[in-house]
Amino acid sequence: MLSNESDICPCRINPNAALSSKSINSDKGAFSYSECCQPLHLGSKVADTSEALMRSRYAAFVKVLPDYILKTTLPAQQAYLDKQAIIEWAEQTHWSGLTIVYHNPKVSKRHAQVEFKAYYHDQQFGSPRLSAHHEVSTFVAVKDRKLWSTEQSSQHHWYFLDPTTALNLSQKQPCICGSGEKFKRCCGQFV
Ligand SMILES: [Zn+2]
Ligand SMILES: [Zn+2]
Repeated sequence: MLSNESDICPCRINPNAALSSKSINSDKGAFSYSECCQPLHLGSKVADTSEALMRSRYAAFVKVLPDYILKTTLPAQQAYLDKQAIIEWAEQTHWSGLTIVYHNPKVSKRHAQVEFKAYYHDQQFGSPRLSAHHEVSTFVAVKDRKLWSTEQSSQHHWYFLDPTTALNLSQKQPCICGSGEKFKRCCGQFV
């Protein structure tokens, strides 16, 4: 059993359940950080679903692990990310929990989507108020031999497809995810 709240992985804290006996998602059981997102953050495990990757990215914002945010973004987009801005945003946000609204593991051959609410306490207007970033994130499965350890080299790995990153691509160019398809028929549908 968990000894205290701080052992619970940030991605398993559900603020809407706070009024009931447990403040964590009861349907998923109790997940400590060391059993949940920490192995992903340490690189000893990779996310086997887009939902697991989404959860681990949320937990990485809470723990202020910008390198994890960078390395789980589609490789072709990583150079456009502003690490300092990620750090500042992660540190300045009063993170309060996460709920997964909907997980579609197969939007297309290699894309998945996760609808989520990432909660934070809004400090702007005097007494803190619970607010949420309600978003749908798209993830793409990429066959990647370079970035991960050899025993997993033949697998697909999930990456976050960042819709805000500048992509100077024409719709007919080969896709940034390396699928070999035209951008507009692949990741271009989601950015
Ligand atoms: Zn977690
Ligand atoms: Zn693609």
